[in-house]
Order: sequence, then structure tokens, then C-alpha cells
Amino acid sequence: MADVQFHEVCGAQAAITNGGRVAERKAPESSFDKGIVFSKQPLKGRFEVRIRRKVAAWSGSIRIGVTSRSPESAAIANSSAALKGGTVILSDRDVIVDARTQQENYSSVSLKSVEVDGRVGVEIKDRALYFYINGKNQGKVETELRSQNCWAVVDLYGQCVEVEIVSSSALNVSESSSVVPEQRKVLPKGSPCQYQALVHRFFNTLVIPEIFVDSRYDCCYCIKCHAERGDLDYYNRGSPPALYAIPVGWCRLGLKLNPSAEANKVWDTHHRAYHGTAVDKIRPILDTGQLLFPGDVALGGSKISEGKGHFTDDWKPKGFNTKKIFLSPTIKYAGLEAYARKKEYVDKPTGKKYWVRVAFQVWIRAGSYDVGQSTMAGKNFDERILDQGIEWSTVERGATHFSGIVVKLEEQT
Ligand SMILES: [Zn+2]
Repeated sequence: MADVQFHEVCGAQAAITNGGRVAERKAPESSFDKGIVFSKQPLKGRFEVRIRRKVAAWSGSIRIGVTSRSPESAAIANSSAALKGGTVILSDRDVIVDARTQQENYSSVSLKSVEVDGRVGVEIKDRALYFYINGKNQGKVETELRSQNCWAVVDLYGQCVEVEIVSSSALNVSESSSVVPEQRKVLPKGSPCQYQALVHRFFNTLVIPEIFVDSRYDCCYCIKCHAERGDLDYYNRGSPPALYAIPVGWCRLGLKLNPSAEANKVWDTHHRAYHGTAVDKIRPILDTGQLLFPGDVALGGSKISEGKGHFTDDWKPKGFNTKKIFLSPTIKYAGLEAYARKKEYVDKPTGKKYWVRVAFQVWIRAGSYDVGQSTMAGKNFDERILDQGIEWSTVERGATHFSGIVVKLEEQT
């Protein structure tokens, strides 16, 4: 499926780019249709696209389906709801066969509700047709396919203006990662890459009691491991969905979930964020069971104060509350030196010296935090998460739950 592309024959307003992997509708503010695109090859297995762009104008959105008529063979209708000749389309929640509604409320969710980064797919398996929304199989469609030789149809209709074909490797992973999981996702285990092995050696020097860690949730996000999984760099999580960035270049050590997080199915409902901290604070934070506020006395008596370079009670803008926990949906901000203060690590087996930075990866309850703009020097920290919304803060205890500790090691030069 890695070579699956869109067909060059497409609707009058559609354009195929990126070597056939991306389709868009031109002038999306002034026209809402003529955006039909097809798969270049007849459908084999599942065909899935990710929405890259939507506009607020118009009411309808993406439609997807199959047609047994080859894209070259006839004029293309303005809308997929008008395609005939052995065509099955999912529109909103309804199945349309050759321009007639055949099954109302087929899918559990509406295609209109699929946001940017959401995925929709179609599959022919054992002569039956299935649709997928965000990786979730919506069930068998009650219709006879005219032919087993079908092309996928994607209609960039209404609000949906740009999609990209999801690669086969991403498809395999997303099977478990993007479906709203019943359980916290356990990652497939391979042997660790060199970077992950190095991170583990560093982590072992901290002598964190085993009771805190859960290695089933270890995950290496080094560039190589991340690329091999075919994951995206950003995901929407929680309800309502919020964007967060995968910590590419870092490596995660899984932490045990506390019972209240388990009970609240935080992996389903909560947002994702990072809290950069100093290496020496990992243990007191774990011992206390939650992120600490400046001024807190951690278990064992060590007082947590505002980090170096941060505002304090004696030095802060008027009205600024420093007694908050700061987080960010991107490690590019939470991992800055001001939060994740670097420490030297000497790797015994190789004798090499590294700078190490750490951050907690957490689930945070939607609505429990304020979204603020960056208070750090510099700008455009992240490509997708804007500076205006990059700093999250909460005054609510118990709003966050640990998912893991992410670690970055950089060799000193
Ligand atoms: Zn790796």
C-alpha cells in the first residue's frame, strides 16, 4: 500500500500533489464541490486518508466510497452523491448506492465530525465492503458490490479541502493507536535501538523503584524508531480533542497508571501534555504521586521552588501567579532548558559524556487548565502548535496523571 496514489483523473476543482499522495480542492472558500478524486489502482485491502485541512464555510464534509467504473471511462460528477455505475458512498452517516440513499445512519459517527488529522477509510474484504472512521470499523455495508474490481473514491466536499493517503505502515500502527482505546495502548516490543538502550542505562542510574515503572509502555521516539512505526508527528487526543506533538528525538519510559486514572479512562478523555523538570526532581515527584507546585514540600521534606529564571513571589509581573504547574502540548517547549534543566551523564560502557533532559508525559483533564502564550525567549517553538497556545497551566491538584518520563540524551561535543 506504500505505493498507493491518487489517480490523475479527478474533479474539475481537485488537484493531486506530493507525488500523488495528497489531494486538495482549489478555491475552497468559493466552491464546495467538483472535488472528487480516485485511487490510481483498483482497491486492494484498505484505503485510508487523513484530513489535512478543513474550512469553516459550507456544511457538508468529506465523503468516501468505491466505484466499479474506471476513473478514465466517463465524465466525473460534481459530487460523489451523484456518481452512478456501481458506486457506494458514505456521506455523513448514510450509505448512498448509485445516487440513492440505501442505508441511513449506517455509521456510529458522522463524517462531518471528523476533524483535521482524523482518518476515514474504505475496505473490500471477502467480497464485502466496510468503512472506517478514525481507524474504527463501522461494520459491513448491506449492499452487493457490482464488481470486486473497484476504485476508491474520495470526495473533497464542503468543509474538507485536503487529504493525504495514509501509508500502510501507519495503517498497521494506527489500528491500535487512533481508535479510541478501551485500554491504555501496549506497544509492540522489539529489541531496543542503540538510543533506547543508552536511555535505559541512564535511567537505571536513577535507581527508581520498580513499583513506579511499567515497561510495557516504553517507547522510543528517536527519528529512526518513529519513522519505522510510520506514526504521525501530531495527534488529536481527548474530548474535546486537543492537538499534541509526539516527542520525536526523545525516548519514553512508561509509568504505572494510578487507579483513579484507570477508572477515568484518561487515555480516552484527557489531553496530553509534557512537564519539563530537573532530573533530581523525578524521584520526589514520583514519591508524591503527582506534579508539584512551587512552594510544595515534597515527601521527605525537600521544598520545591520556582525554577531558575522563572518568576518568583519576589520577582514577577503584577498579578502573575507563580504557584501553578506549567505544561505544554509539545516537548519543544516543555523540554526547554528553563523547565527541563540539563544534567551531565557519563555513560560508563562507552565513556561518553551526555547532556540529559527529562520531562513527565501526562494526561491532563480537559478544562482543568488555562492555555497561555509563551513566556520564554524565542518564538515559533513548534511547527503546528502556535506560541499563543503553547503554555498550559493548572492550579488544580489531581488534574494530571503520569503516562511516562521522556528523556533526551545529547552527546557533549
Ligand atoms: Zn529508537
